[in-house]
Amino acid sequence: MITLLDKLGEVEKPACDIFGCTVVNTLSCLGKCGKDRSLREHYNHFSINIDSSTNVQSSLANYFKPTEDILHSTCETCGHGESRQSIRCGKWPSVLLLQLNRFSYDCNGNLANKDCSNMFVPFILETGRRSKDPRKYKLSGMIEHFGKGISSGHYTAKVRRKDTWFNCNDSLIDEIHNIDRSSGFYSVGAYILIYNLED
Ligand SMILES: [Zn+2]
Repeated sequence: MITLLDKLGEVEKPACDIFGCTVVNTLSCLGKCGKDRSLREHYNHFSINIDSSTNVQSSLANYFKPTEDILHSTCETCGHGESRQSIRCGKWPSVLLLQLNRFSYDCNGNLANKDCSNMFVPFILETGRRSKDPRKYKLSGMIEHFGKGISSGHYTAKVRRKDTWFNCNDSLIDEIHNIDRSSGFYSVGAYILIYNLED
């Protein structure tokens, strides 16, 4: 699905308008000039790591966390060779797609492992204090993957229609009961999450 959206983003403006988001990468010189150099990158989704968190809210916050690492990059102004990297969202989309990085690969590009952590997927997702432009999103659907490999296993989906949730499993569509609507889902298979911007 993500690949399809990337393809659509190349040729169809509406896909960019709906899902398009911008990430701003900034290198701050650690020399005497202290100047920032920024690069804007455009995406149709965010791929976020889950290895240090079991909560999607925290995983998204970690995605935009300034790195403590010192990068070796020569400053164009003062020639200093070290800088620090930070990342922030420059433009939030009207529909936020998050892909959880459950799959890891070896140096040959072969699937090495799948992380089956039980993730908490909140119904309401907030972009947090680090954002200059904080937003609130509401979960409208999620695709889950069950099985070991990305090209095998089984995909299902949870879909919200107004305030009623349904589980879609091939031809079986069942209403999900006993949901705490102020909370969220726990899922070992949550893979792609779809959040709509709240007004
Ligand atoms: Zn400098």
